[in-house]
Amino acid sequence: MSACPVCDCVTFEECYPANFDGGWRDAVPFFLTGRTKAVHGRIVRCRDCRFIFTSPRFSAEEYARIYAAVHAGGGGGSPPRDRFIALARLVRPHEAGGRFLDFGWGGGGFLDVMPGYDAIGFEVAADVPNGVERTGRIVTGDILAEGLPAAGLIEGSFDFIVAWDVLEHLAEPGQQMRRLHSLLKPGGRLYLTLPNSASPVARLSGKKWNMLLLEHLWYFDPVTLTKFLARCGFVVDSIRPTGYPVDMATVIRRARQTYGDWIPAPPAVLADWVVTLPIGLMFVRAARRD
Ligand SMILES: [Zn+2]
Repeated sequence: MSACPVCDCVTFEECYPANFDGGWRDAVPFFLTGRTKAVHGRIVRCRDCRFIFTSPRFSAEEYARIYAAVHAGGGGGSPPRDRFIALARLVRPHEAGGRFLDFGWGGGGFLDVMPGYDAIGFEVAADVPNGVERTGRIVTGDILAEGLPAAGLIEGSFDFIVAWDVLEHLAEPGQQMRRLHSLLKPGGRLYLTLPNSASPVARLSGKKWNMLLLEHLWYFDPVTLTKFLARCGFVVDSIRPTGYPVDMATVIRRARQTYGDWIPAPPAVLADWVVTLPIGLMFVRAARRD
């Protein structure tokens, strides 16, 4: 990491030392929903703007191999449908219709709850490094690659773009957000969810905050996010906290991964008990500024 992506400062101080010191192959058991333990890399704070991020990181190629191995092993999983219904309720009042891109499509859960819109999903594919492939409504590849227009990702063509829980994973967030900016119509809207390092749960949990994870590279708060998005050509309209629906069996499994096996394993029946928890996520609406 040579410079802070928010302010270009090059001086950082350590917030939390890494509790993971392995290589990319070792990292596979610690990624996404299949994780066996909650671990994170070394987390530092910019001396100038106070932005918090992971440094050093794996390389972009290493992350691609980790995600490919996690997905091939059946890890990852999709958020519950309730999550997408709740997000659709926040988006629809601002979007009467039109064309949108779901950047970080995942399993397609959001497209399923947005009938009546002209939607394209985009998903990273490590095995399509220099191009783009399209299957139905889904485009896979590298958002920074050439050849996007042929797959329907035409500059200035989208009314809005959504990226749920994506920004914190991006190896090149500035370049990728500027690419999204170019895909939007002038004034087009950008909707994000991502961890908020200034949220009450983040402040209360400290180094045990459940969003401090190996795969999370950037820990924005409303101030650093607003500055960062401005550099990428966006003006922030609103930021609000958003919960995450999760079943009680997963809550207890996460607690065991974080605090230790002295916590009893959850009975299977708790998987049916879903609650929406404030885990420190923020919902952001921004707009393309020209
Ligand atoms: Zn900075």
